[in-house]
Amino acid sequence: MRLSDYRVEVIPDAELKLDGGAMFGVVPRVVWERECPADSSNRIRMAMNCVFIETPSDRILIETGIGEKWSPRQIEMYGIERTRPLADSLREIAGCGPEDITIVVNTHLHFDHAGGNTVPGPGSGPNEAFLPQFPNARYLVSKSELDHAEAPHERDRASYLAENWRPMIASGQLEMMPDDYEVVPGLRLMTERGHSETMQTWRLDRGGETMYGFADLIPMKAHLRLPWIAGFDLYPVETLEFKRRILPLAAAENWLCLFYHDIKTPLCRLTVVQDKMEAIPV
Ligand SMILES: [Zn+2]
Repeated sequence: MRLSDYRVEVIPDAELKLDGGAMFGVVPRVVWERECPADSSNRIRMAMNCVFIETPSDRILIETGIGEKWSPRQIEMYGIERTRPLADSLREIAGCGPEDITIVVNTHLHFDHAGGNTVPGPGSGPNEAFLPQFPNARYLVSKSELDHAEAPHERDRASYLAENWRPMIASGQLEMMPDDYEVVPGLRLMTERGHSETMQTWRLDRGGETMYGFADLIPMKAHLRLPWIAGFDLYPVETLEFKRRILPLAAAENWLCLFYHDIKTPLCRLTVVQDKMEAIPV
């Protein structure tokens, strides 16, 4: 898809499965499983939709998926189903390899967003076990999120794995950014409390269009309903306020909305039908 002089492509990574109850918080299973059928372990299927943006000067990747550093036991536990490496999807869909990416942006450092930041390295030493997957890229993450990742909360400690950011501190590729910043003209990252205190959403304004990435504040289309909020969120009432504020705006201004974890149609426009917010696939 082109937005003026920028090219934008959705790059799906592997699928994972997480507990459906945890993904929908106070919503009862009999209600959410009509939208997202659960397996015998109560888990629902989720995608990880990274976004590639090519500008006249940069090739940007927003999020890097779940990565390929998992043990067989962890692959089973998280229900990771991978048909091909992220690098192959990038080559096929965007026509460039990891070495061509100039900027990697992470909305936050949870392993399902930053897992592909690194790949297994050649040795087991402190700077050898894991290497940056994108050798020529600047990696951008907010300083607040990095501070949180290094000293996480008991409720989200399991989502932070240091091998997803420390190799780029060692290589000098990681840049600590403010809570609100511009990556390239038209692409902004904004810190929004809800999922955590420091997670960021992103917004691209180009060629008269607005594209918006909700990250984990509205991870799937099923979360468009205001009370459908993940039990993972540290500040669910603020997630609800974010949705109340952003969704009418997204519908009124006809934004392209990116649902990072949506399995079938991650890119949609929103419309209100009989007081209900609906997503129309692009
Ligand atoms: Zn996530």
